[in-house]
Amino acid sequence: MKIGFPRALYYFDYFPFWAGFFHQLDIEVVTSPPTHRRIMELGLKSASDETCLPLKLLAGHIQALREVDWIFLPRMVSVEADTYTCPKFLGIPESLLSAVPAGIPVLTVTLNWRKGQRQVLKDLTEMAGQLGKSKADIRKAFAEGQKWQKRFQDARGREWNFEESIREIASANYSPKPQNTPVSTQRTWKERMFGKMTVIPYTLPTDVPLAKTVKPKVVLDSDRLRIALVGHSYLTQETYANLNLLRKLRQKAEVELVQHVEQEEIETNLLGLRKKLFWSHSKDIYGAGNKFVTDPEVHGIIYLTCFGCGTDSMVQELLSRKARQHHKPYMVITLDEHSGEAGLITRLEAFLDMVERRRIHEGYVSTHGERLDSHSNTL
Ligand code: SF4
Repeated sequence: MKIGFPRALYYFDYFPFWAGFFHQLDIEVVTSPPTHRRIMELGLKSASDETCLPLKLLAGHIQALREVDWIFLPRMVSVEADTYTCPKFLGIPESLLSAVPAGIPVLTVTLNWRKGQRQVLKDLTEMAGQLGKSKADIRKAFAEGQKWQKRFQDARGREWNFEESIREIASANYSPKPQNTPVSTQRTWKERMFGKMTVIPYTLPTDVPLAKTVKPKVVLDSDRLRIALVGHSYLTQETYANLNLLRKLRQKAEVELVQHVEQEEIETNLLGLRKKLFWSHSKDIYGAGNKFVTDPEVHGIIYLTCFGCGTDSMVQELLSRKARQHHKPYMVITLDEHSGEAGLITRLEAFLDMVERRRIHEGYVSTHGERLDSHSNTL
């Protein structure tokens, strides 16, 4: 049995859980290829005009899945206690049914951690029951999924790199082989899970060696600028849609990401809010962004958002006010399907020039009596 998993949206945060879950159930997972022009076009044609770019991309990835028995579209209502995911996550799969190729059924499940682990397990049991799996197997699969997800999340910190984390999951030695199967036909879990994936052409930044299994200690170059790139993982790690922003930035500066901040630090940086943020992604973005704003070693912040994102319209504004208070250079890049590379490079270079100038001339008092950059913290 093959389950199609679109390489978009929740792929960037929760794929390890689902990979572990289905692996334990001995179900093959096939992902769509990394985004390319055709996928984007397919998504634009089938998704609603008003929706955000990541959902349009998800619609395209759904159509890129071929020769699968099911297309997996979970409704991830809540992924941790006391939070919700974005309302557009909640509308999946219904909002994207028009993108599903004819003849392929949709496999879905509602995942709501606000209702507790017992309910989550019950819902997973119901879903996997449709695939003929026993309760005991599903219980084991749930534990396995959590183990893989934890492994992925534990990689958070200064050295975190998405591609390496996924590769580490792939090369981990989870290899329960099926009993009573002739040795010649046994396949390792890696072959079963990733061998048939079409995800192979990784677009790693040039400075990250391909074959690393042990993460190198990151030594920051103190002479280079340090820029924080904040935003949803499915935008910052989506190289096609963000026009390779991360790589472009890394060529010119040391880059800090939301995932480089430990969870405890995120929580600490949320304490100043009068009211709790209840969107899980937004919490991470704001907590990490707040930390970067007050970190004197971070010279500037770029907020990567997309047209039509409801949660960012609020969080971005909160963060920009913080940045203004602390005179931290701050720029917002809004992506949509029409974003062009030339415009992005121009803005990026202008921002980095401005940040560099501030770094060098921070204490400079001009002959007109006013510091040149004292109020120009935003572009
Ligand atoms: S958080 Fe924003 S970008 Fe993400 S799914 Fe919701 S509206 Fe779209």
